[in-house]
Amino acid sequence: ACLDRIAAVDTDIHAFLHVDAEGALAQAAASDARRSAGEPASPLDGVPIAVKDVLATEGLPTTCGSKILEGWIPPYDATVVERLKDAGLPILGKTNMDEFAMGSSTEHSAYGPTHNPWDLDRIPGGSGGGSAAAVAAFEAPLAIGTDTGGSIRQPGAVTGTVGLKPTYGGISRYGLVAMANSLDQVGPVTRTVLDSALLHDVIGGHDPRDSTSIDHPWASFAEAARTGAAGDLSGVRVGVITELGGEGYQAGVQQRFDESVALLVKAGAEVVEVSCPNFVHALAAYYLIMPSEASSNLARFDAMRYGLRVLPDGDPSAEDVMRASRDAGFGDEVKRRIILGTYALSSGYYDAYYGQAQKIRTLISRDFEAAFEKADVLVSPTAPTTAFKLGEKLDDPVSMYLNDIATIPANLAGVPGLSLPAGLAPEDGLPVGFQILAPALADDRLYRVGAALE
Ligand code: GLN
Repeated sequence: ACLDRIAAVDTDIHAFLHVDAEGALAQAAASDARRSAGEPASPLDGVPIAVKDVLATEGLPTTCGSKILEGWIPPYDATVVERLKDAGLPILGKTNMDEFAMGSSTEHSAYGPTHNPWDLDRIPGGSGGGSAAAVAAFEAPLAIGTDTGGSIRQPGAVTGTVGLKPTYGGISRYGLVAMANSLDQVGPVTRTVLDSALLHDVIGGHDPRDSTSIDHPWASFAEAARTGAAGDLSGVRVGVITELGGEGYQAGVQQRFDESVALLVKAGAEVVEVSCPNFVHALAAYYLIMPSEASSNLARFDAMRYGLRVLPDGDPSAEDVMRASRDAGFGDEVKRRIILGTYALSSGYYDAYYGQAQKIRTLISRDFEAAFEKADVLVSPTAPTTAFKLGEKLDDPVSMYLNDIATIPANLAGVPGLSLPAGLAPEDGLPVGFQILAPALADDRLYRVGAALE
């Protein structure tokens, strides 16, 4: 049914870069056999899933939305992909994304943008717009995304889907092509909070192949979601973050957010307002730290080891080949960030830019620590606006960056965050996202509170 749906709608939506019908059907047949024998591999055995094209999939193309990796077939699976296969989830294919996960609209994909299923003239968010659109358009019941500054949660918000970024280290990054190692996390993209929890239970947990993976005795997230679904939040303290709301937020977004907070009160939660004064600097710090790490990570795409190799005429040196290949293989946004990051890390400017940004990062973590003294979870709108029009912000990178204002603090501090649908904005009829944040290791609270809202 999913493959039929993809065939029917994906020409318009373009959520997928690669569909593996044959592989998915073979995996589904194996799953049928297991389940008929009464031996399902997991609670999600047989449920098809789409995977963002930034995770290595053995035998399937992995482009990261870039021309520089066109035609590259990884010889191994990312840990998350391996766990999906072990749990019996057929992999439908790879989803579209902003090149190397840089963007908030999926317009920076070298293979053309993804369209928002709610309105094809609008963006599906980014960088994981393909995964979110695939789930929103019923092409896949589940998908995998990655979130460095909001790329799971913001697409979730603008497509009316559920997106979760785990605690840093909660889900393995082995086999995830690194953009900014200290910020990147893999996570579920789903239609409901319980689906997210079930998927998190499958893909999460310690991985010795990722040195930043936490060895923690995680309890069942599905259990937390089921507890929350009963709708009783008495004793839960919810903090509304002063700095993430009001001015700069679309009226209908703010309205739906306020209504969700009222629902939390009705469920018995105690709502307080908390201030995180350093959050106003989060965007500036992120857009120095992220390009800095990315500029170093992307140095590996040198035309010698992977993908595209452009040979200039004459008798080119290795450096000529690297220059020509990177020039042809990387898009504008990637080049912009490589240049910015290289500059921020250069010896004369390191203290003034990268060093300062790291100090802000510490202050933001302290803001979270202080806020979590007063509240068990924090809430805000996920994105300041609903889905904007394709092309609207393409020539204005800073206005594109501003869409990440509410999602970035969680990445800088490594805390988990969940975005879930909060209804449609009255002025444009488009989905609004409600964000819940919890302290590191307390991802279960997101599921409990999120399921209570559903
Ligand atoms: N939109 C943000 C950026 O462009 C976040 C991207 C992400 O989370 N991968 O960096």
